[in-house]
Amino acid sequence: MTVRVRIAPSPTGSLHIGTARTAVFNWLFARHHGGTFILRIEDTDEERSRAEFTDNILDGLRWLGLTWDEGPFFQSQRLDIYKQAVQKLLDKGLAYRCYTTAEELDTLRELQKAKGDAPRYDNRHRNLTPQQEAAFQAEGRSFVIRFQIDDGREIRWHDLVRGEMVWQGRDLGGDMVIARAAEDGVGQPLYNFAVVVDDMDMDITQVIRGEDHIANTAKQILLYEAFGAKVPEFAHTPLILNQEGRKLSKRDGVTSISDFQQMGFTPEALVNYMTLLGWSPVDSTQEIFSLAGAAQQFGFERVNKAGAKFDWAKLDWINSQYIHAMPVNKLTDMLIPIWEAAGYKLDGKRHERAWLEQLTGLIGASLTRLTDAVAMTKPFFGDTIEFQPEATTQLQQPGSVTVLEEVLKILAQGQELTEASAQDIIKQVMKAQNLKKGVVMKALRSAISGEVHGPDLIQSWLLLNQLGLDQPRLQNAITAQANF
Ligand code: GLU
Repeated sequence: MTVRVRIAPSPTGSLHIGTARTAVFNWLFARHHGGTFILRIEDTDEERSRAEFTDNILDGLRWLGLTWDEGPFFQSQRLDIYKQAVQKLLDKGLAYRCYTTAEELDTLRELQKAKGDAPRYDNRHRNLTPQQEAAFQAEGRSFVIRFQIDDGREIRWHDLVRGEMVWQGRDLGGDMVIARAAEDGVGQPLYNFAVVVDDMDMDITQVIRGEDHIANTAKQILLYEAFGAKVPEFAHTPLILNQEGRKLSKRDGVTSISDFQQMGFTPEALVNYMTLLGWSPVDSTQEIFSLAGAAQQFGFERVNKAGAKFDWAKLDWINSQYIHAMPVNKLTDMLIPIWEAAGYKLDGKRHERAWLEQLTGLIGASLTRLTDAVAMTKPFFGDTIEFQPEATTQLQQPGSVTVLEEVLKILAQGQELTEASAQDIIKQVMKAQNLKKGVVMKALRSAISGEVHGPDLIQSWLLLNQLGLDQPRLQNAITAQANF
């Protein structure tokens, strides 16, 4: 049997980390078995589905490297197929039209509540006579299609993650609605129904999805049986939890993949981290691996039943590992859009590719997130700098101005600035003014960057020198400090 699995997101929001992690597990399982990974967009909820969310989902999956082999299929384009399937169950006598009104359902619920019973439909229209149906229709009542659920049924399956699962038919809330009212008499299909029709039609062999779908699985198994179809295997993956052990939600900050992208995570790191959210590799100390590497060893026997806590520190650490291992060329490509988004003007003449790569090389090893580059490189873009309070204090220290004047004097001699000559200039100033190296370095850094901390000073100086910005900044610092 060839493996066929799917991810079936609903475009009612951006690609959520939980859905993306489910997609990761599906992808890994498909690749491990040389199977097929299918993308299906579940957009039957017309009111809440939006095209921009579909785009966000497709972009997010592509960005993460979760390439699909078939699809995207859109449920909204398959309505006829669902209608035929509804008709099939009506013909078999396994589904029926239910004319119970919303008010009648409310009354029923109130009664059940008063008795302390769980709310459920009482199957009152399961065996209507044609005359009764005609009477309801004459009253102008609309209907839904319900599928019969036998209260006495026990539903069992062997879950690939959770082992033996047992559900009782009576706990499923009575005969279930599979299609809503529609003029054609067949109705608009609902989630549990459309999913089964699609999974049958697409020959899905394993349904891998979040454990919040367990109750749906029990219902869906009954639908497969009603169609006389082979029931696929099921794997219910653990939820992603916040640090307090509750389901990760919007309140925990970002939850969609595009947010993580904006925050400066690389797709390789994010997908690596997501793989570890509930699964562990054979060598449990291994933390860095590619999707392909994880696929080689992926299996449900190493997926946890317990929820997976989301750990920002770990994600940050993994991200930094990927950034630090990235060739400068590639890292520069990733930083350019981030600099541009921050409003830094990348002037092709001044900020030549080679210069940008030097700047990347200077800060790369200090980055945890790509976006950290924005603050770290601020003094390298734009002609002017802002003096941070520590830098103004530093520039007012005795000796600072003299340092700057001395450096300017030496630079005015026109000697080319190289790493060696820069070191030499610092030594000359130390000697002439009898100052400690720290004082000279701090004065210089404050003057050229407006900050007291930052990347390697000599390299920073060289980069600014290439733009012709070092001397004007030294001069400016001398003038500015008089007015601090
Ligand atoms: N559209 C459902 C969801 O986004 C799919 C669930 C499933 O995989 O069956 O949760």
